[in-house]
Amino acid sequence: LQDRLGGILDRLTRRGALTEADVSEAMREVRRALLEADVALEVARTFIDNVKARAVGFDVVKSVTPGQMVVKIVHDELVKMLGSEAQGISLAASAPVPILMVGLQGSGKTTSTAKIGRRLQTREKRNVLMASLDTRRPAAMEQLATLGKQTEVATLPIVPGQSAVQIAKRAMEAGRLGGYDVVLLDTAGRTTLDEALMAEVVEVRQATNPHEVLLVVDALTGQDAVQTARAFDGALGVTGIVLTRLDGDGRGGAALSMRAVTGKPIKLVGVGEKWDAVDEFDPQRVANRILGMGDVVALVEKAAAEIDAEQAMKAAERMRKGQFDLNDLKGQLVQMQKMGGMSGLMSLMPGVQNIKKQLAGANLDEGMFKRQAAIIDSMTKEERRNPDVLKASRKKRIAAGSGTKVEEINKLLKMHRQMADMMKMMGKAGKSGRGPLAGL
Ligand code: GDP
Ligand code: MG
Repeated sequence: LQDRLGGILDRLTRRGALTEADVSEAMREVRRALLEADVALEVARTFIDNVKARAVGFDVVKSVTPGQMVVKIVHDELVKMLGSEAQGISLAASAPVPILMVGLQGSGKTTSTAKIGRRLQTREKRNVLMASLDTRRPAAMEQLATLGKQTEVATLPIVPGQSAVQIAKRAMEAGRLGGYDVVLLDTAGRTTLDEALMAEVVEVRQATNPHEVLLVVDALTGQDAVQTARAFDGALGVTGIVLTRLDGDGRGGAALSMRAVTGKPIKLVGVGEKWDAVDEFDPQRVANRILGMGDVVALVEKAAAEIDAEQAMKAAERMRKGQFDLNDLKGQLVQMQKMGGMSGLMSLMPGVQNIKKQLAGANLDEGMFKRQAAIIDSMTKEERRNPDVLKASRKKRIAAGSGTKVEEINKLLKMHRQMADMMKMMGKAGKSGRGPLAGL
């Protein structure tokens, strides 16, 4: 473990739900990690506030500390935020599909244009034409022409003296006449945002009506990222982000800032200077980089997996003895909820098909698992161990306590009875050494 995590994350070792104090304390470390990764201040603040509220009350897995648990929750939220809409470049428009590349100078627009051109041509088998609209930098057009030769992607012939808009129109015309599927428009950038540049790009957009407007951002950009994203998105309506220099030693906080400010997906990442150094966006990997606490995350995941296995073994043992009570059922329900469906121990068991069908018929959704778990939570210890005591008045009390209906309780009890019977049967078979659980 990194030293800087040491203090807070290792201090308390206990179990139970995360308290507000646990979360706040661990969040101080998380906040520092985010800022060190160059996540914009306001983005870090909002993100932390959102996650904080969600983390309080989470159960701490055995053998990890509350601090470590918080880090894992933050990591999962980061992944969700970075990748919930993971998707590639869209070509769902009539050919030639115009794609506009925008961004600050030196962010990697020209390189990314060639990378994308090559990728669309080889992987998607599209016919691609690239055009440089950069009339400002003397060698910019030659740069793209050279890349075009290397990648074997066509480039628009250079005609000196034309404006960016004129070149863009000529590119679309050439795209139509030449039967191209995609036209990539590489624009000029400036070191800082200036209005003349923005006006020019807006004019190009109006002239070509691009299907994608990709904002190219250097992953090493820090706090400026937010301002850049806001300006480009406001003026042009960005559809996606290309994050370059992810091979550098920055921690990639710009990814989170971009995502938070524009709400647009990160579509590709650049991982080197060469035209084949391009990758799909991997939210898991980038989240690890941003947080810089990959080993803590791995530790918590391992601990959680061990607990699942331990619980499954215990449940199997109790099943074998015919002691499967409602506590065990709740354990299984929680597991199912976690894994998003029938899985784990239960799916290994033959004869479970009946229950599966019953569950499916009852509209197998997360909400149902939650309600069933809530029903069991509203029972007394005694009721859970011995469901036979559950008569009408008790059921009414439980329904009120769990916000459910008596019908639902009956359904749950029926399911439990079926499972218990089945398990008793299997347990008997198990004793003779031939049962389905014999191997567990
Ligand atoms: P533009 O001004 O936005 O067109 O930027 P360029 O495409 O000309 O790139 C500027 C510099 O960044 C060049 O030296 C590129 O080789 C380099 N570059 C672009 N993308 C990446 C990347 O993903 N990783 C690394 N290491 N360098 C990159
Ligand atoms: Mg360029």
